[in-house]
Amino acid sequence: MIQPPSWLPVSPDSDFSVYNLPYGIFSKGKEKARVGVALGEWILDLAAAAQLGLLSEWEGAVSVFEQEVLNEFIAQGRPAWQSLRKSLQRLVTEEESPLRAVADQVLVRQAEARMHLPVRIGDYTDFYSSLEHATNVGKLFRPDNPLMPNWKYLPVAYHGRASSIVVSGTPVHRPQGQILPAGAEVPVLSPTQALDFELELGYIIGKNSPLGSNVATSEAGDYVFGCVLVNDWSARDIQRWEYQPLGPFLSKNFATSISPWVVPMDALVPFQTEGPRQEPPPLPYLRTSGAFNLDLELEVALKPGELPESTLCQTNARYLYWNIRQQIAHHTVTGCNLSIGDLLATGTISGTGPGPSSPGLSSRGSNGCLLELTKGGTSPVVIAGGGQRTYLLDGDEVIMRGFAHKNGLRVGFGEVRGKVLPALEQPGAEG
Ligand code: MN
Repeated sequence: MIQPPSWLPVSPDSDFSVYNLPYGIFSKGKEKARVGVALGEWILDLAAAAQLGLLSEWEGAVSVFEQEVLNEFIAQGRPAWQSLRKSLQRLVTEEESPLRAVADQVLVRQAEARMHLPVRIGDYTDFYSSLEHATNVGKLFRPDNPLMPNWKYLPVAYHGRASSIVVSGTPVHRPQGQILPAGAEVPVLSPTQALDFELELGYIIGKNSPLGSNVATSEAGDYVFGCVLVNDWSARDIQRWEYQPLGPFLSKNFATSISPWVVPMDALVPFQTEGPRQEPPPLPYLRTSGAFNLDLELEVALKPGELPESTLCQTNARYLYWNIRQQIAHHTVTGCNLSIGDLLATGTISGTGPGPSSPGLSSRGSNGCLLELTKGGTSPVVIAGGGQRTYLLDGDEVIMRGFAHKNGLRVGFGEVRGKVLPALEQPGAEG
């Protein structure tokens, strides 16, 4: 399966191959943000293409591409996504493509564009679906009882905060919150001393499910539009003090970063793979049989200020224990509704592999957060130039990347990056 060539020069190493065609929201200069599709180093301006009559089936619906979010396009439904994808693949591969004559009106260089949050996200749920992550973290927080008795029976999750989801490139202030210092009995309000990243994938919901109805695993695939990379920033010292009994709150609510390009599920079909065997077998409503995991290579790099990048983690989404169909079936088993644009993230993706061969990482490098990579902040990782990290410092930039490749076909996610800014000033006290 070799990807067809385009008349546009697209590097074979590009994440944005002719087979990918991810959707995003871009703007150039002072122009209004609108819908685009990434191809190589370019963005296809879908509003311009539709206005010029290149997308005949969209003649009466050009405004769908003039929106500042993808929600209205997503609401057109899977047959519309698939027909657009076919039209675009023809326009960028056929020698006789009518796009060639108007390329200067329809193509924008990514380097000249600004990317925006692609979707209006109404609700955000973060799962905890990696067995390796749950076990490693459980050992640090509860050495006697790492994996809770429910973990292999249900996809554990918490309801996250949608308002603070930001697009790649948005800097993130070090949060402050209550922390219980070691040995103390009374907490203090302090900037976190344990700022972490979490490497995750996020699924964008593509179809509404009504309140009061369930979505079965067999139908759950119809409810997914596409996928993004997610950095679920986390403050471990705040989390440790606040998380029992209701789960994370301020340790997670200050920011979640996502990549700007939404990779359509249709582009990921060749990379679907079976997940790990589930033992004990889940209850019947959670059973799936099929290739519903993604064979997707993932990595995290750290760039401290002007210093070079260090790769901290390399792993693969295929290791995830619970798949998206199980997550959707579980999420809706109560009758809870899903809405177009909701974000369902996987939880930190850790693996069993050796990870990158950087010094100081040894066998920990397939773990998707610093909490695991540094064994709870007790064993620093070595970074380029001889520095060390337990948790993130101000000025550190975290960069996550993901791509799938198979038989000459490459589909990538680009990047999600974010730089750590110093903490905000503490709020004043009354009286
Ligand atoms: Mn998370």
